[in-house]
Amino acid sequence: MDKCKSVSARLCCALCGRGFDIEPSQVEDCLEILPDMGWLVVDSSDGTTDLFCPSCSPWAERLSRLSEHSRIVPGLDGTFLALDTGDICEFYGKRSWDGERWVPWRCVLLPTCVDQGGYIRVSVREDGSIVQRPAHRLVAEAWLGEGGELPIVDHINRRRYDNRPENLRWASYEQNNANRDYTRPLVAIGDNGSVVEFKSVTAAQQFSRRAMMSANRDWFDFSDGFVFVYKDEYDDIEPGPYIEQMLEAGSKKEVARMRYFDWLGVSKSRRGASDA
Ligand SMILES: [Zn+2]
Repeated sequence: MDKCKSVSARLCCALCGRGFDIEPSQVEDCLEILPDMGWLVVDSSDGTTDLFCPSCSPWAERLSRLSEHSRIVPGLDGTFLALDTGDICEFYGKRSWDGERWVPWRCVLLPTCVDQGGYIRVSVREDGSIVQRPAHRLVAEAWLGEGGELPIVDHINRRRYDNRPENLRWASYEQNNANRDYTRPLVAIGDNGSVVEFKSVTAAQQFSRRAMMSANRDWFDFSDGFVFVYKDEYDDIEPGPYIEQMLEAGSKKEVARMRYFDWLGVSKSRRGASDA
């Protein structure tokens, strides 16, 4: 055997890059020994093998969950992920300092705001500048692909805060307008507990121009003394004090969401993130 052709193989951690060089002939043996040394050896579906060093192996499981439950948003600077919950987060793939120690990667939920139309917006980087984009468009671009001729992303169940991929579809202006139903009955709830029903959005808009905007929102803003809710959503709720129940459900939902984010390995803030 020609010695000059004997090159060394490098086994290294898929996350931090730590590793060592060995003779190519030793690769098979080495892969068998690595688990005893605390390394994680993962055979991926495309036939390659990923290795994770002892300090990175706890992250590997979270990474695989994340890759399963998120898609990369195309066309942005950096790696922004759209989760299957409809939330947008930013992924940092390199080792980063969290103030106390190095973490191999982190995924941070982007803060959101809601625009005048009731749509959730997030700030992302695009072509070198920071821009606010509607979250549902980013989710659609990531999960549904290009819209082609269709210019609009429509919320199938008409709830503008529900940005889960299965609730979104590319649509024409005509389709979107057909789904925006001004005949949908509304309920106005006063902060004193009074309930007034309106037979349509159009009728409620006569009463308050904010009616549709208020109904499209996911939270209660009583600044005018009342909020609007679509009658069918109001009727979804079990009997009982509607507002307290909704507020309670809201917080339980939030707990469930935070658990899910934790399970995915997504943190809510930049600092103190990604702790196993
Ligand atoms: Zn490592």
